[in-house]
Amino acid sequence: MNLTIYNTLTRKKEVFKPINPPHIGLYVCGPTVYGDPHLGHARPAITFDLLFRFFKYMDYKVRYVRNITDVGHMESDADEGEDKITKKARIEQLEPMEIVQHYTFRYHDAMRMLNVLPPSIEPRASGHIIEQIELVKRIIDNGFAYEKNGSVYFDVEKYHAKHNYGKLSGRVLEDMISGYRELEGKDEKRNSVDFALWKKATPEHIMRWPSPWSIGFPGWHLECSAMSTKYLGEPFDIHGGGMDLLFPHHECEIAQSVAASGKEAVRYWMHNNMITINGQKMGKSLGNFITLEELFTGTHKMLKQAYSPMTIRFFMLQAHYRSTLDFSNEALQAAEKGLNRLMAAVKSLERAKSSEKSTVDVSDLSIRANAALCDDLNSPIAIAALFDWVRIINSIVEGNETITQSDLETLKSTFKTLTFDILGLLDEQNEGSKYAQLTGNLIEMLLAMRQQAKANKDFTTSDRIRDELNKLGVAVKDRKDGFDWEIL
Ligand code: ZN
Repeated sequence: MNLTIYNTLTRKKEVFKPINPPHIGLYVCGPTVYGDPHLGHARPAITFDLLFRFFKYMDYKVRYVRNITDVGHMESDADEGEDKITKKARIEQLEPMEIVQHYTFRYHDAMRMLNVLPPSIEPRASGHIIEQIELVKRIIDNGFAYEKNGSVYFDVEKYHAKHNYGKLSGRVLEDMISGYRELEGKDEKRNSVDFALWKKATPEHIMRWPSPWSIGFPGWHLECSAMSTKYLGEPFDIHGGGMDLLFPHHECEIAQSVAASGKEAVRYWMHNNMITINGQKMGKSLGNFITLEELFTGTHKMLKQAYSPMTIRFFMLQAHYRSTLDFSNEALQAAEKGLNRLMAAVKSLERAKSSEKSTVDVSDLSIRANAALCDDLNSPIAIAALFDWVRIINSIVEGNETITQSDLETLKSTFKTLTFDILGLLDEQNEGSKYAQLTGNLIEMLLAMRQQAKANKDFTTSDRIRDELNKLGVAVKDRKDGFDWEIL
């Protein structure tokens, strides 16, 4: 099988050739862990989980690295503002690493529910400060960075004179420079397009490490350059992430690698497209920001019902990863129906009886599905083939088509491998998760009633709900903006 993938860097589909087969190095930018996982986290996770699973199916040995950003990601995605995690820690009056731990667990829980396989390595930025400092030193030694007042900045113009800053995102440096407003006097950068490799910590900045330049912290783009090559070597095969990371994050990663080593670290860049909600971009200011928990429990005001993790997963796989994907209640309800039909077909297959001869060609499913997935991971076409076979399976069960015992075994195996192993779907009703979900919904409902009781100063009721839940083995912990609970 020849897999072709669309390389964002060359803007065309290319036949994928691993650098060191059967090994494949895959790096995907993971979350900045300062809030509950939301819809925007699900799409890259599911896209690259499909790739990871498909590579395994093709017998490759994949080292999949997906990082956790726990320092250096500023509010603006540029160098300005407060560190996202520091800010959350300040608001919640917690140590930044408590924020990191809490939201990393929340992210892992959501990924497990979506049946996203854990990566081979999940490095954290704060655990790789030494590697990042070494990378900054190399970039300075090669003349592409400068120090100012204890901070170190990447010299974009100097780099661009030799290389091409903007090659990934297609942005033109001259336009970027004229697009920025005049620098104010306090800025330490030589040019507004320069970006921070190391920032000197202000007194209120809690996360800080010693370096040759100052006590400070690394710039956001640095961690991925340092950690990807540490674990995958240089060059490595595939770097993935959401399209929102193309610029500045991935553009800066390329510049850092070339400035440090003279060559690019990544062979293929892959980017999943974005999600819209009822045709609008998702954003906190628009009131359409939906966390995964809200989706799974149906507690967001825009949702008509709860949608199970597999409905979300199936819905995402029904679109090609490079297309935008619009969320609406109607589209999710349709996905739920489709998923139910698929799971019903799995059960029908168990009931199907074999005959003397086959009137169907069972090789069709694997040929079509593999061809689709080899064509830049075209999951919607693979799913369409699967649904043609849902119809054929029903015809077999009804006796309108016949199948031999050995063809039936092949069909069962192909159908289940595609559905469960490659697409990563689960039969939620069989896994007992329907009841788990119901239990979760009931606990949430009780706790919402408790919040209401507290708001009404009815502490007898609110304490009773908490104590009764405790007796049932449910620990309840109050937070400023709500509550956490866990089954002990
Ligand atoms: Zn990254």
